[in-house]
Amino acid sequence: MKKGYFGDFGGQFIPELLMPPLIELEEAMKTILPSEEFQTRFTNMLKENVGRPSAITYCPNLSKDLGLDLWLKREDLNHSGAHKINNTLGQGLLAKMMGKDVLLAETGAGMHGVATTVAAAMLDMKAVIYMGATDVVRQAPNVGRMRLMGAEIVAVESGTKTLKDAINAALRRWLSDQETTHYCFGTAAGPHPFPTLVREFQQIISKEAREQFMARNEGKLPDVVVACVGGGSNAIGMFHNFVPDESVRIVGVEAAGTGEPGCYSSAPIDHGTDGVLHGMMTKLLQTKDGQIEPSHSIAPGLDYPGVGPEHAHLDAIGRVDYTTINDSQAINAFKVLSRREGIIPALESSHAVAYAIENREQLQGKSVLVCLSGRGDKDLGILDQIL
Ligand SMILES: *Cc1c(COP(=O)(O)O)cnc(C)c1O
Repeated sequence: MKKGYFGDFGGQFIPELLMPPLIELEEAMKTILPSEEFQTRFTNMLKENVGRPSAITYCPNLSKDLGLDLWLKREDLNHSGAHKINNTLGQGLLAKMMGKDVLLAETGAGMHGVATTVAAAMLDMKAVIYMGATDVVRQAPNVGRMRLMGAEIVAVESGTKTLKDAINAALRRWLSDQETTHYCFGTAAGPHPFPTLVREFQQIISKEAREQFMARNEGKLPDVVVACVGGGSNAIGMFHNFVPDESVRIVGVEAAGTGEPGCYSSAPIDHGTDGVLHGMMTKLLQTKDGQIEPSHSIAPGLDYPGVGPEHAHLDAIGRVDYTTINDSQAINAFKVLSRREGIIPALESSHAVAYAIENREQLQGKSVLVCLSGRGDKDLGILDQIL
């Protein structure tokens, strides 16, 4: 396999000026990451600050309703409410041990910005968060949280003033400040080595879940493992340690948007074609001429026109089945899990729960382990607007 590739996908499609910090990061992954000092500090922080291991939870009521055994891996119980902290804390500690004192990140809905700011505060580093000016207004509560925890927010006024403009501006900042600054990438995508680095920090989800499930089920593995796929970080974390288990069916759920014919979606594996975006070769939603198409999902964290390259590869080799769930199916799952189990899931995670609900006929009698990537308190405003 070519370095930095997963089959035909991945690579480093970036301006040459960005090579030095990526090479420096790759070096740190070989020297600092495996060191006893890093591993001990990271493990302790995951335990004391994040609250790991996160539980797995059996859902007795919904299991009975659906005629299957539904289990949840509870990343919603992590400090700051989702899986993102596993990655930002890992990259933050790595950057600190590399001698950097600034964590730079871009954010759309603000969740990755918040997780980066939390990590920076814990590690006594500075957080600089790039956000499209439109998003700064739309996502005021997250902007407030970030400022409270000490982040500098840079509102980007160029282009459409949203996520992709924030990414471009943040990359320029990294070019000029690479001595002091680490670019804390938010998902298992982007140029090599980010997809591998982010997987390294998120694979703890399946490491724990696999052991926890077997301990509760007389050594048996689950029949089906499910996660939602935006950029792909909670999913690759949930899949990684199950990939060698041939008996386990693995399902990635992309967002279909409204589900109407011709609507914008966030499902590049199901509806996209091969292309290059944000430094990687992957599956993209694009026109025939290679212009990126707008994406849509009711779940802000899934609203991305690309996907991490390892998912494109797992799809190509047929190891993972990728499918879609639309907005209204996700809203239904949001309500059903809240009502039947007293757990309010993030709208992103609701897509994974909806898979079990919508496919209950084929899943009769099976054990289904779903990654609950985050909690849904943040989404009550979106729901209020709709209902
Ligand atoms: C950000 C987010 C996602 C999507 O990101 P991935 O990198 O695909 O995991 C999913 N769920 C929650 C709760 C999120 O905050």
